[in-house]
Amino acid sequence: MLASAESDLRALSAFYGFSRIGRVRVVLASSPAEFRGLTGTASGDVLAVADESSGRIIISPASWRGDPSRLGGVLTHELSHLVLGAKFRAAGADLPRWLDEGMAQYVAGDWEFDIDWAAQQGQIMEAAAASGRLVRIGQLDALFGGDRSDVQLAYAQSYSLVSHLASTYGQRNLRIFLDGAASPEATPGEGAARPGVTLDGAAHTAFGAGIAELEVAWREATESRSRWWDVLLEGSNFSVLLWSTLAALVIIGFVVVSLRKRRAYAGMEEGAETNGKHPVEEGGDGGGP
Ligand SMILES: [Zn+2]
Repeated sequence: MLASAESDLRALSAFYGFSRIGRVRVVLASSPAEFRGLTGTASGDVLAVADESSGRIIISPASWRGDPSRLGGVLTHELSHLVLGAKFRAAGADLPRWLDEGMAQYVAGDWEFDIDWAAQQGQIMEAAAASGRLVRIGQLDALFGGDRSDVQLAYAQSYSLVSHLASTYGQRNLRIFLDGAASPEATPGEGAARPGVTLDGAAHTAFGAGIAELEVAWREATESRSRWWDVLLEGSNFSVLLWSTLAALVIIGFVVVSLRKRRAYAGMEEGAETNGKHPVEEGGDGGGP
């Protein structure tokens, strides 16, 4: 296995508090056909697949492009699926897809791809919030099975939810939440599928609020971010606003100065023609811009 994968795996085992991971093999597919054969996936958008049962991570040639050292975020993302998946499976607990994908993106940080996913993700969220397309948490997992734009929104929203929880409540509480959701006692017996109850209880323990309450807060934060003044005043947009304001001031200043000059020249001509009064006094109005 790649050295970077080994250190990533150690870090993720520590982060998720779960180290009972079997052998992990990283397979770099050399062609799209080989990737399709190994994973059974036909979509060109899929960058890698983590197969938990065999402990294999299969990377598409589009992700590693002949240079395994470029894998970075993709590998961390897939390793997160393996470790978090194993943690939940060991407890017999359900791991919702949004939480799985949200965590994988969160631990992988900014992905180093040709497509700038971090920026794209922000745009997808802003557009979805502005057009009322944000999906309820309960419906989010189904969105992963939709068309291309559904899938993109599903990834973006999953990431947004997890990073909102992490930035609002801190990483420590996020991990307490995962521990609670993956604890055997939190899972109802007889295989009864009540994932909502499990997650809700874990959320109360970790964040002091249930899933529905957290969802409302997250939605408010996300929608307010898509409001125009926030977009305008945010980071790089703010400097654009600042510079265009400064540029506008310079233009206004220039117009005022030219008008004064013109009036001054007019006064000069007038003065020359008439009684030779000082042109600036004649033309100047004494007021600033
Ligand atoms: Zn994933």
